[in-house]
Amino acid sequence: MSEITFAPSRCHIDLAALQRNFARLGEPATLMPVIKNDAYGHGLLPTARALAKAGALRFAVGTSSEGATLRQAGLKQDIIPLLGGMTLEDWRASAAHSLLPLLADSEDLKKALACSRHDRPLRVGIKCETGMNRLGFGQEDIPGLAEYLRAHPGLEPVLALSHLACADMPEEDAYSQSQIRAFSAICEGLRTVWPNMKSSLANSAGLLGLPGSRFDLSRPGIALYGGNPFAGGPKESAGLGLEWVMGVSAPIVAVRRLRAGQSVSYGRMFTAPSDMTLAVVAAGYATGVARALSGKMEILVHGRRVPQVGRVCMGMFMADVSGLPQTRPPDTAWLLGGPAGVGTMPITAQETADKLGTIPYEILCRMGAMNTRTYMP
Ligand SMILES: *Cc1c(COP(=O)(O)O)cnc(C)c1O
Repeated sequence: MSEITFAPSRCHIDLAALQRNFARLGEPATLMPVIKNDAYGHGLLPTARALAKAGALRFAVGTSSEGATLRQAGLKQDIIPLLGGMTLEDWRASAAHSLLPLLADSEDLKKALACSRHDRPLRVGIKCETGMNRLGFGQEDIPGLAEYLRAHPGLEPVLALSHLACADMPEEDAYSQSQIRAFSAICEGLRTVWPNMKSSLANSAGLLGLPGSRFDLSRPGIALYGGNPFAGGPKESAGLGLEWVMGVSAPIVAVRRLRAGQSVSYGRMFTAPSDMTLAVVAAGYATGVARALSGKMEILVHGRRVPQVGRVCMGMFMADVSGLPQTRPPDTAWLLGGPAGVGTMPITAQETADKLGTIPYEILCRMGAMNTRTYMP
């Protein structure tokens, strides 16, 4: 459990759902689950341990310090720090903890060599640029890189990796296919020197929607946590059946009557059209409920959806529970997930993201970082 002391709202992490999603995505030997950035807000260690129990053989983390945390907790899997900008200290930590860091440019080569030893080679991956135009060696750099690595046996390349820019966009299929071709060509070249090198290109969208992008290892992130990269589009069926892992609840701390014509909360943005009953919920923008959702979101109370009304405050917001006269403090309000009545859909991170013009990744990272997390085994 992670503790946030300033608020009573909670993230509920369903580790069994995480394990079911992992199983749905394929054989563990073909997967490199992505648990960077505190496992998208779900908590690095509990997520890694649950996936290890489900058979995970490797993990992609964000930073070398996330990798070190996994090692210190006793996890023995391959650990690949994905994010760029590795400092010399990051390289030293990676070597000390036997991580599998990625070479992304010639500066990385120098730093990696400074941490490597001939008698105990440092296993590394090669980050390849195929169309994201962010980090990595381009196709034209590969022959020179290969020659350099052959001359420096302190570094042992075991993995080639690249990243898809728009695998979740069926209308960009031609671009994804060009990335697949570019990566294939790079891997072919590398395998003439290192025949056992593994290749990895697909993210969740690639794994689910572009079979040609799977190569040896796919790197699902959002799909592990229940997100469908194709939600709302023509390829939606490719990601159906995944379950959201995170629920978010907050206690109702007061129930009050509002007479017709009375307003509620800052700015008086909501005025009661008739007499109504309001629940005051102990969650707000300090605990991840975006203020831009004011008057636009719904929550689940007693298994039913009710509208939120008025401005979202720092640690509270109000909802219309006129139809639920049994509501009393400290009943539970569900902002994401939770037990829904017959015919009612729980609120999803996708729905919340759509309302905010963002993606569910952002909702999960924010909720996870700003709330105490509890775990269901
Ligand atoms: C975050 C990330 C992934 C996972 O992406 P999803 O869309 O969450 O599946 C895979 N590869 C790299 C390099 C990443 O940074």
